Amino acid sequence: MEAGNPHAVCIPLPAQGHINPMLLLAKLLHFHGFHITFIHTEFNYHRLVQSRGLDSLRGSPHFRFETITDGLPSTNMLGIQDLPDLCLALPVHGLRSFRELIMKLNARSDVPPVTSIISDGVMSFTLEVAEEFGIPEMVLFTPSACGMLGYLHFEDLKERGYFPLKDESELNNGYLETEIDWIPAMKGVRLKDMPTFIRTTNPDDIMFNYNLQSVNNARKAAAVILNTFDDFEHHVLDAIKTKLPKLYTVGPLSMLQRRLCPTNFDSIGSNLWKEDTQCLGWLDRWKPKSVVYVNYGSLITVTPQHLREFAWGLADTNYPFLWVIRPDIVDGGGERILSKEFTAAISGRGLLVGWCPQERVLSHPSVGGFLTHCGWNSTMESVSEGVPLICWPFFAEQQMNCFYSCTKWGIGMEIDSDIKSEKVESLVRELMEGMKGQGLRQNAIDWKKKAEIVTSPDGSSYINFNKIVIQLKQRMP
Ligand code: UDP
Repeated sequence: MEAGNPHAVCIPLPAQGHINPMLLLAKLLHFHGFHITFIHTEFNYHRLVQSRGLDSLRGSPHFRFETITDGLPSTNMLGIQDLPDLCLALPVHGLRSFRELIMKLNARSDVPPVTSIISDGVMSFTLEVAEEFGIPEMVLFTPSACGMLGYLHFEDLKERGYFPLKDESELNNGYLETEIDWIPAMKGVRLKDMPTFIRTTNPDDIMFNYNLQSVNNARKAAAVILNTFDDFEHHVLDAIKTKLPKLYTVGPLSMLQRRLCPTNFDSIGSNLWKEDTQCLGWLDRWKPKSVVYVNYGSLITVTPQHLREFAWGLADTNYPFLWVIRPDIVDGGGERILSKEFTAAISGRGLLVGWCPQERVLSHPSVGGFLTHCGWNSTMESVSEGVPLICWPFFAEQQMNCFYSCTKWGIGMEIDSDIKSEKVESLVRELMEGMKGQGLRQNAIDWKKKAEIVTSPDGSSYINFNKIVIQLKQRMP
C-alpha cells in the first residue's frame, strides 16, 4: 500500500455492540484498498490483550490499532465501564486525545495522511476534529433504523411533553402504553417501544441528552451508515432520509463482510471477553434445529431472581440449550447463584459458558431458536442465519427491535420483562415445536434469503458499500 492510499480512521464507542460492526466496516474498507487505523480506548485495549492476547491487536502493516484515553480510571473492580460515565468523559477527554492522535498520525511518514474518519454516530464529538483538520467524516449508527428513528424523535417527544415523565408512577400506571400515532412510519408504536432513555423524570438525563445530541450532529456528517437493509426497514428508512438524506444501508454487515472479503481477517478480533469455542463441538452432538441458544449481549445485568426463573424455565423444556452467562451479568457472579439441583437437572443437556463466538453459534445447524435481549447486532446476526427469536428487551432501542421483530418482521415472540419460569418454558416450546414457532422460523428464513440478495452484486447493501468507497476515495485531498 502506497503513501497515496486512502487512510480511514475508525472510531467506535468503546462497547462490544459498537466495536463489532465498526470492525466489520473497517475490514471491508481495508479489503478495498484503505489503510486503516482502528481506535480503542486504553481501557478496552487492555481488556482485549487479556481476552485475546496481544497478537490479535498487531493487525498488519496497513491495519493498525491505536488508543485514546477516555479520562476514566484505567482499571476498576468489575472490569467494565458505566455508559453514562463514558458519555460524560468521552466528549472531553476522548476529544482531546483523539485530536492529538490525528495530529500524530498526520505527522508520521510510515502511514498515509488521514483521508477520512468513520466515527460511531454516538462519538459525534469527533466531527469537531474532522472539521478542524478538513477531513471528511461519515458516521456509523449501530442501532436499527427503527431505533434510530426513535432517537430522531427525541426532540419531538420533549416538545410534546412525553419527556421527562411527570413522576415515577408513569412507569407503572399504563402511561407507557400510550400509542404514538404522530409518527406515520411507525404505525402502532407505543411510548414503551421508544428508546428507554425517555423513562425518567430528570430533564438533564445524561443518556437522553447524549443520544439527542448525537442524532442532531449526524446532519453535519458527510454521510450516515446503518447496519440494516432496505427491504427490512423500508418505511422507516424513507422517514429517516427526510431528515438525513445522505444515508447508506450496508447490512447485514457480517454477511457483507463474509461475501466481499475472501479472507475473513479472523486474526483481527474484538471480543472483550474470552470466548469459549468448545461449545461449537458440544453443538455438533445435537439434532438440527433442536438447541435453544440464550444470550443477553454485553451490557445488561440480570437480577438473581430472574436468572433463576430463566434457569428453571430452560430446565423444564427438556430441550438442549446453550446459555451464555457473562461473569459480570449478576452482581455476585452469575453461575454461582444457580443451585446444585439445577445443575443436576440439566446434566448433559444444558451448557453454560461465559462468552461464545455468537455468529458461529447462530450459524450452527443444531441451533433452532434464540432467546435474546434484542441488541441490534444480535438481531441482524440471527436474521442472517434464519433463526427465530424469543425477545426479552432490556434497554436503549432493544424495545423497538422487539416491537418490530414481533409485529412487523414476524420473527419473534416477546416474553414479559418480569420473567417467570413457566412462561420461559411455554414460549420455548412454542418456538421450537408450535405452529407459531414454525411460522416465525419460515419468516426468519425468508429474511435470510432477502439479506443474501441485498449483499450480492446488484443488491442494495452491496451497491451502497461501493458508493461509500467511491465517495471516500473522491473526497481525498
Ligand atoms: N457477542 C458474542 N458472544 C457473546 C455475546 C455477544 O460474540 O457471548 C457479540 C454478538 O455477536 C454481537 C455483540 O457481541 O455482535 C453484542 O451486540 P448487541 O448489539 O447484540 O448487544 P449489546 O451487547 O450491544 O447489548
